[in-house]
Amino acid sequence: MKAAILDKYDTALAGPEYVKMDEVPEPRLVNDTDVLVRIGGAGVCRTDLHVIEGIWRQKVDVKLPYIMGHENAGWVEEVGKGVQGFKKGDPVICHPLISNCHALEARRGHDMHVDGSEFPGINTNGGYAELLRTGVSSLIKLPQTLSPKDVAPQADAGLTAYHAAKKAAAHLSPGEKVVVIGVGGLGHIGIQVLSALCAADIIAIDRSDMALSLAKECGAHFTVKGDGKNEVEAVKALTDGKGAHAVIDFVGEGNAIDMGLAITRNNGAYYIVGYGGEIRISALDMITTEKRIIGNLVGNYTELVELMDLADRGKVHLATRHYKLSEANQALHDLHAGKVKGRAVLIP
Ligand code: ZN
Repeated sequence: MKAAILDKYDTALAGPEYVKMDEVPEPRLVNDTDVLVRIGGAGVCRTDLHVIEGIWRQKVDVKLPYIMGHENAGWVEEVGKGVQGFKKGDPVICHPLISNCHALEARRGHDMHVDGSEFPGINTNGGYAELLRTGVSSLIKLPQTLSPKDVAPQADAGLTAYHAAKKAAAHLSPGEKVVVIGVGGLGHIGIQVLSALCAADIIAIDRSDMALSLAKECGAHFTVKGDGKNEVEAVKALTDGKGAHAVIDFVGEGNAIDMGLAITRNNGAYYIVGYGGEIRISALDMITTEKRIIGNLVGNYTELVELMDLADRGKVHLATRHYKLSEANQALHDLHAGKVKGRAVLIP
């Protein structure tokens, strides 16, 4: 089958070809609970650029070459002997992990922290290909309203935004304020999820006017132009001088972290989703402000079910741009250059 292979790291992202198009053997079922999915769409994610840079080498053990692509949806092609409830042709979205759903951590809903999980596209072959091997416990059947190529990025980008926004929504009362920093692929989903799950006022911050108008379309009540100087004052002016009850930071680098903590009110919560920067706060400040800092890693299976329900009802819409699988390098370069509106999706 055709696949886009990562065969070498490019720490500066300077090369013309990040991945190599190649003909590789089709994946085979390994466990009785395995499933082969014929890929209908594979999302292209900023994490893929970080994988190419080699940033993930310190966190995961993977040997090159392998197939990237961790945001996958398609149709069931073949099921293992122990698989029930799915048959060839069923449209599905894949939770990004292949994990043991009987593990205690999984039963408690902490799917991302189950020992021994495989992460297609990160530590094993992913979906930049015609076929993907995954496990039945990762599969969610798609309703007829949703096609694989239109929802594939929800498997990670949407799920991560949902996971953080749902946590924040659980602690937000009507009329309280929540800030979303960064209205890109994740941020525009986060705003829609907050609109669907709570009645707090949503304030969106971004450097780009185009992103701020997208934020308004998605349900933001206020927008603040990110210029590196006036964001803190602008948010304070909207929050009685005290800052927001919750801040969700989809950027996590540059000045976003310091700004995000500064606009979190005392006893408020700062949810960190984007990465690349460092969080620095003194113990004395943590004690006196009682601010909470909360990490977010993708999301669990049931959260992806909930997100698909919101998508089916038309409450969460993902902007996508489609590329052929053979245009994987073009899609990755466009993402790196900031030229993709919404999310890029590769279609075999
Ligand atoms: Zn991703």
